[in-house]
Amino acid sequence: MSKKVRVRFAPSPTGALHIGGIRTALYNYLYAKKSGGTFILRIEDTDQNRYVPGAEEYIVEALKWTGLIPEEGPGFGGDKGPYRQSERKDLYGEYAMKLLDEGHAYYAFDTADDLTAAREKDPNFKYDSKKRGEMKNSLTMPALEVAKKLNAGEAYVIRLKVPENETVVIQDKIRGEVKFDTNELDDKVMLKSDGMPTYHLANVVDDRLMEISDVIRGEEWLPSTAHHVLLYRFLGWENEMPSFSHLPLILKPDGNGKLSKRDGTRLGIPVFPLSWKGETPEDSFTGFREEGFLPDALVNFMAFMGWNPGTEEEMFSLEALCDAFSLDHVSKSGARFDIDKAKWYNQQYIIHKDNKELIGYVKDQLAANGVSASDEYIHEFVGLMKERVVVLPEFWEKGDYFFRDIQEYDDKMIRKKWKPESEDKFRELVAALKNANPFNSEVAHLVVNGFMEKTGSKAGEVMPVLRLTLSGTMQGPDVFRMMELLGKDKVVERLENGFGLFNEVCNRPVE
Ligand code: GLU
Repeated sequence: MSKKVRVRFAPSPTGALHIGGIRTALYNYLYAKKSGGTFILRIEDTDQNRYVPGAEEYIVEALKWTGLIPEEGPGFGGDKGPYRQSERKDLYGEYAMKLLDEGHAYYAFDTADDLTAAREKDPNFKYDSKKRGEMKNSLTMPALEVAKKLNAGEAYVIRLKVPENETVVIQDKIRGEVKFDTNELDDKVMLKSDGMPTYHLANVVDDRLMEISDVIRGEEWLPSTAHHVLLYRFLGWENEMPSFSHLPLILKPDGNGKLSKRDGTRLGIPVFPLSWKGETPEDSFTGFREEGFLPDALVNFMAFMGWNPGTEEEMFSLEALCDAFSLDHVSKSGARFDIDKAKWYNQQYIIHKDNKELIGYVKDQLAANGVSASDEYIHEFVGLMKERVVVLPEFWEKGDYFFRDIQEYDDKMIRKKWKPESEDKFRELVAALKNANPFNSEVAHLVVNGFMEKTGSKAGEVMPVLRLTLSGTMQGPDVFRMMELLGKDKVVERLENGFGLFNEVCNRPVE
């Protein structure tokens, strides 16, 4: 019988969750869903020094926003909890003891000063099989002295005794066979002097106790995997060892090196799912959500950061990804973080979203700007604007004139497109529009066509003037549909006031 698929996303709450974390969560989620397995969230918070308040809440909020909902985890239920390592701390000692008892670990009493001295003596110092014999530990001290130190309550750590002259072989599902020479591995600390386990011990113990079948995580954890494999062996769990898959790095937009959180600030692009307010401005970051990205667009974009479906298809909902995803199509090489592609996805998702679903976003923007409109009006507005919007705030930025007076006219364009001598002619058009009934885009179109015929005017002369008077800019949706949405009163008002204003602009000396 094949093992039931259980995968975990195991972030450490040390700050905002970088977008790479979301990709790891996503691939775990997809892998689980594809095989009817379980997606678990485990909070790895054993490093008290690096614990940042609010980080766990951030992780949970980011997962909820992107729709990657764990079936087990803190606050999500599950019968293999607790899912926060700090709440499991009493559990790890037993395994450290087992390692000690069976000769796979040892007590080390070296103080911070001892370690500094060792590093000063040898800049390449590693606490490993070559050096352990020179250090203060239970392998070098007489048993009685060790017992005395322990009884006296002296500080110690427990280190893994990495065997010499062995090759640890890992079958990585993405990278294939990866080999590590144990002579290159250090004797990693398993239990710290405060009694807390390190990442390595807690991670392996929890993966076993939570019956994790597959470990899918970032490439930076590949070197640790050698230690993990040794731990599985020493704890007698070799047969239950999960499979390993190490995901490719996410690279800077120019492809040179790993994408870092600072790159976001440097390039003015989001590299976090949600905004994060740290203690200092340098530690505060903007998020995809706050920049106006839709969660499904971000998910689709992130899925392609290291994976491809093997076809030309690019649009995948989370559901479709669950079907299509496979680790076989995850690449080994780093994936370039292409923000333009993220924007492209966002635009596609905005275009394809039902207008109704976008109303809420626009309403929020209106409220933030102290204006309001009916749902029907916003619905029509969304339909008119959505093809021109890349990120959500652009609904307001590009379309505020539908909700309030025009804030600014494009004077340069006015000078180019407006001929003060045509004012009387255009006033005739306003009169005709005033009489249009019903006032909708078709009728407005007919009226304008009739006017052009009658006055012998060209569309190239009339349309820009209408567009500028109604919106202040030359960019925007179809003029007749714009008219219909604005309504007759607003259209007539803007045209009547606009021509005078345009004359003023044309009479003003150019700065
Ligand atoms: N706590 C580790 C992290 O922050 C988890 C690595 C793993 O998945 O094993 O990424």
